[in-house]
Amino acid sequence: MTAESPDSAITAWLATQQGAMLQVLEEMVNTDGGSYDKPGVDAVGAIVQRFMAEHGIPVEVVKREKYGDCLKARVEGGAALASGNRQQSIVLMGHRDTVFPKGEPTRRPFTIRDGIAYGPGVADMKAGLVMNMFVLAAFRKFGGAPGPLLGLFTGDEEIGSPEGREVIEATAREARVVFNSEPGRPNGGVVTGRKGGVFSIFDIEGKAAHSGGNFEAGISAIGELAAKITAIHALTDLKRGITLNVGLVSGGQSVNTVAPWAQGQIDLRYVEPADRDEVMTKIAAIIAKSFVPGTKAKLTIRGEFLPLTQSPAAAKLFEMYKAAAGESGLAITPEFSGGCADSGFTAAVGAPTICAVGPVGGKAHSPEEYLEVASLVPRAQAAARAILMLEKAGL
Ligand SMILES: [Zn+2]
Repeated sequence: MTAESPDSAITAWLATQQGAMLQVLEEMVNTDGGSYDKPGVDAVGAIVQRFMAEHGIPVEVVKREKYGDCLKARVEGGAALASGNRQQSIVLMGHRDTVFPKGEPTRRPFTIRDGIAYGPGVADMKAGLVMNMFVLAAFRKFGGAPGPLLGLFTGDEEIGSPEGREVIEATAREARVVFNSEPGRPNGGVVTGRKGGVFSIFDIEGKAAHSGGNFEAGISAIGELAAKITAIHALTDLKRGITLNVGLVSGGQSVNTVAPWAQGQIDLRYVEPADRDEVMTKIAAIIAKSFVPGTKAKLTIRGEFLPLTQSPAAAKLFEMYKAAAGESGLAITPEFSGGCADSGFTAAVGAPTICAVGPVGGKAHSPEEYLEVASLVPRAQAAARAILMLEKAGL
C-alpha cells in the first residue's frame, strides 16, 4: 500500500485514537442502560448520535415502543471504487443494552487497572459499539469503502431482540456482509457458529384447598410443575447440542394451601435449525399433558434467537477477516459458542455474517466483566482492513 492509500490513512488514524475511544467508552459504560430501561438505552444512543453528528455522519432513528430505538448511521462508499453492484450495505452491528439492573454503573463505574477496563457492558458490548463508531468515522474522513457502510445500533439484544429483530432482519436482507462486534473471545478468536435459543414461559393452573383440612379437594399446580420440569429436562441431548434449562420457577399461595398456580421459564438451546421445531413440539406436548389430573397449562414464547450457521460466503468472510486481522498483528481462530446473538438473525436471512469481531474481553454478564484496552485499536484496524479487502475477496 502507498502512503496515500485509504488503508494506511485509516489504520494510521485509528492508531492515534485509543485515548478518544476510551473517553467515549467511559461515558457509555457509565450511562445506565439495561434492556428494560428504554430511556437509559436511548441515552446510550444519544452518545452515538452526538459522535456521528461530530463526524458528519447522518443517523436515522427507527423508533421502538418498549425498548431502545434502533439507529442506522450511514457512510457512503468511496466514489473511486468502480465495480458495479455495490449498493448493498456493509453492516457493522452492535447492541447498546446490558444485562445489568438499574444503578449498576453507579455501584461499579468504569475503571482501568493495569491495561484492563472494567464496568457493566464494557466488553459486551460497548467497546464493540465504540469500535464500530470509530471505523465509520475513519471511512467518513478518508473514504475508500468499497460500498456504503451501515452502522446498526440496536437496543434489546440481551432479551432476544423482541423489537430489534425486524429491523435487523430487514437490514440484513439488503446487506452485503455483516460484522457483529460482540466481544472477541479471551484468546482473540471470533465466532463463526452459535446456538439458537428459545425462551418460553409456562403457566399452570391448579385448584386451591386447605392442605390440612381439605387436602383431597385441591389440585397441585406445583406437583404438576415438578413433573413438567423433569420431563422437559429429559429432552436434553448433549451429543446433538440440545439443552433444556428451566431456570426460573414460582408458584403457590402458602405452605398450607394446595398450590393453585405455578410457573416455569424454559431456555432451549440447539445447533441444527431443524431441531428447533422438533424440540418445541415435544415441549408443547409436555405442557399440554396433565401429569396431575385436573391441571391446565399454557406455553408462551418470550424471545428467540436463531443459530448462526456457516454458509460458504460466511466461510469466505472468515478467511478474509483472518487475513485482515493478521495484517494488524492478530492471530484469529474460529470458535463455536453456545451463547446466542443477533448474528443468528442476519445469518438466517442469508447475509454472510461474522460475529465477535469486537475488542477482546471476557466474563460477560458478571461483575468480573473485563476488556483488554490494548485490543481496541488493532481490532478496529482489523475491521477496517477487512472492509477494504471485500472486493478482492469477491464478497
Ligand atoms: Zn452482547
